Amino acid sequence: MHEVSIASELIRVATLECNKNGYNKISSIKVAIGKATGVMPDALLFAFNVLKEGTAAESAILVIEEIPIKGFCEKCKKEFEGNNSYIVFQCPFCESFSVNVVSGKELNIIEMEVSDEN
Ligand SMILES: [Zn+2]
Repeated sequence: MHEVSIASELIRVATLECNKNGYNKISSIKVAIGKATGVMPDALLFAFNVLKEGTAAESAILVIEEIPIKGFCEKCKKEFEGNNSYIVFQCPFCESFSVNVVSGKELNIIEMEVSDEN
């Protein structure tokens, strides 16, 4: 499952960062997840809550910020927001297929709170 490996990587990176700064407990992690990644927030949250047991992130809250898909048309130079589909294929203005996905592929930690409580 895609989400399980992402959750485990999130915990790994957050723990490393936490220890590096001399703390031993993570209280919250905020992540940005683009809709074009195909990651299901509910599945990620579930995996995170299972995997965090026994780690520095044990009592951490995972906050997920979804980033909408945005495309840019190379032909008419317009930017548009994607709908529910995961991938933006076609410009809604001129129907060109020369479209670049400019946002929605994000998958990173944007904020983290740590403490040194036991
Ligand atoms: Zn266009």
